Amino acid sequence: MLEHRDRLQEELFVAGSLRELIPDDHVLVGVDRVLDLSWLRGEVAGCYDLLQGRPGIDPEAAVRLMLAGLLLGIVEDRRLLREAQVNLAIRWFAGWRLHERLPDHSSLTRIRQRWGAARFLSVFERTVLQCVEAGLVKGDLVHLDATLIRADVSWESLVRVHLDAVAEANEEGPAGGGNAGGGGRPGKTKKISRTDAQARMATSHRNHRLEPSYKQLTAVDGAQGVVLDAEAVSADIHEGGAALEQLDRIAERTGLEFATVTADKAYAYGRNYAALEARGMRAVIPPQRTGRSGMPMERFKYDALNDLARCPQGRILRPAARYAGGRFYRARRADCQACPLKSACVPKSVKARSLMIGDGYPALLRARRRHRRRLDEDRAAARSHRARVEGVHGEAKARHGLARAARRGLDNVAIQAYLTAAAINLKRLAKALLRAWLRGMSAGNACTAAIAAFICATRQRMQPPARMAA
Ligand code: SF4
Repeated sequence: MLEHRDRLQEELFVAGSLRELIPDDHVLVGVDRVLDLSWLRGEVAGCYDLLQGRPGIDPEAAVRLMLAGLLLGIVEDRRLLREAQVNLAIRWFAGWRLHERLPDHSSLTRIRQRWGAARFLSVFERTVLQCVEAGLVKGDLVHLDATLIRADVSWESLVRVHLDAVAEANEEGPAGGGNAGGGGRPGKTKKISRTDAQARMATSHRNHRLEPSYKQLTAVDGAQGVVLDAEAVSADIHEGGAALEQLDRIAERTGLEFATVTADKAYAYGRNYAALEARGMRAVIPPQRTGRSGMPMERFKYDALNDLARCPQGRILRPAARYAGGRFYRARRADCQACPLKSACVPKSVKARSLMIGDGYPALLRARRRHRRRLDEDRAAARSHRARVEGVHGEAKARHGLARAARRGLDNVAIQAYLTAAAINLKRLAKALLRAWLRGMSAGNACTAAIAAFICATRQRMQPPARMAA
């Protein structure tokens, strides 16, 4: 006997909750168990006039809608609202019933403009705190890295302008970049986009072409891959120069001082090594190779006590002018002119050798020596770096749409970065909760103390999946 389905139903009637129609292992069901946005209404109340105007969209529902889109890899508002029209899971997660009309896509744009990036940063920071409270962040190891996000502009929108115009654009917005100043370089030009003046041309590899981009500075905990920081900045900003500020942000956000920091060669500056040493943190950052042409830098000995350098011939190079991030050291012209190594050491165009020695150079030398020893713990931390932070970048781009900015302007990219990082943390939290339940069930007792404390804190949301409860 065969069943017959009548496809010409005139109306839809659902007895019970939409939740019963959604599988227990759906990503939105898992995230709903750990998502707590009850604080949000109070946080954004100041953005609305409570006495006049049409009632705004429930703030929690709006953020849930945005998070649902990112969790399912839908970043454009129009596409998200079209999908929500027919997707039961999104409707249930965001709180719209089947017969209720969804808001217009432009409402989400207005919400982002009205709240500003700071409110979305709060959403992300709360997920970090939840992960810390649940014991997912250990505070042993943090991985720093940066990734480029392709700006939402076309190639046709790019124009070449003078650097002074770029500097003016930077002053208008928060996209101020380290290399953008035009002072002292008359006639220099740069490409910018007419449709997104804050995007900058950048590339992640010297063999790849430059693309209009933003940059995300990312920090990931080494234990479970929780995202601790996801700051969108102009692609002009160098990640190595922003590392200490980033570590300060993480310490303030989590209340933890990490024992070990890993990063790639872009962070290998003497001042970073020195600052990390001063904070008692172990830096697993491979030093950059020094130039091989001429007399290599390693042949010179730096005497930190007397603040001078000695060349292979034993001559003294004394401190000269400062530059941003270090100081020049110069040999005497008479010493170099009479030196048998002059042709290998001094370029033809100058009379005496000079060295550029960056701040924190002694710490850089110690880091080089440590790197040469190839300690097992350093190698393990470096391996973890690749899996964790680069894994997070891959996950954010491949599954949550961060490969390309969905909207224009640094604020919009920052909102996208915060919500994507929040979505990743919520997935980690949901997974940990499920693991804790499974462990508790198999061990015949409750889950770990930290997870149990977290469950107690948000008890009303922590109903086990129906399938597991049965
Ligand atoms: S050229 Fe000058 S700096 Fe170089 S080895 Fe000779 S004396 Fe020293």
